Order: sequence, then structure tokens, then C-alpha cells
Amino acid sequence: MPRHRARRAPINEYKKLAAERVGYLFKLAEGVFRKSPELADRYVQLAWRLATRYNVRFPPHLKRKFCRRCKSFWVPSVTCRVRTRPDPPCVIITCLRCGRITRLPYGRKRAK
Ligand SMILES: [Zn+2]
Repeated sequence: MPRHRARRAPINEYKKLAAERVGYLFKLAEGVFRKSPELADRYVQLAWRLATRYNVRFPPHLKRKFCRRCKSFWVPSVTCRVRTRPDPPCVIITCLRCGRITRLPYGRKRAK
């Protein structure tokens, strides 16, 4: 047994913790945004770093809460603009910091 692995927790434990922490950081960002948008952005950066480090996926509801390019925290009509488009149905989010446009498809594919 390799020595360096002996005391490590299984990787899934780290992932679980990282995912929890990411969710928590977004909650913090939301709470702190009014007082200090910069701090909210900082929390998003931390969350991003955690997620990429541990290869954790962002849950869908968090994908529309920050900019993937400049990692700024999104608050509709404050730091981003949200529009919908009917065909194909998607939400279009424009980051007001860096101008990046993100498309998020919505509506289920017709399975039934
Ligand atoms: Zn941006």
C-alpha cells in the first residue's frame, strides 16, 4: 500500500464536502451582495476554484448565478440582464460586467 495514500479519505468524501461548500459559498454571496458586491464576487471565485479543483459539477440552479468568464455574482438587472427566447426556448443572460452572453435552454425534451 503506498504510504501517501494511507491516511487519505476517499475522493468522494472530498467531493461531497466541496459540493456542500460551493452551495454554502453561494448562499454567503447572496447574503453579502447588497453590502459588498466585491465580496460576493470573491465568494463565487472561491466556489469556482473549489469546484474545478475537486471536479464537482455546479448544480443547474447555480449555473445562472454567476458569470463563467469573469466569475462575478449575478443578480438579475443589477449585474446581469435576463431575457427569454421562445425558439428554441432558452434564457439568455448577459453579464453586465464583461458582456458575455450565456444561453440556458429550458423546457423538457418531449419524452412522454
Ligand atoms: Zn462576466
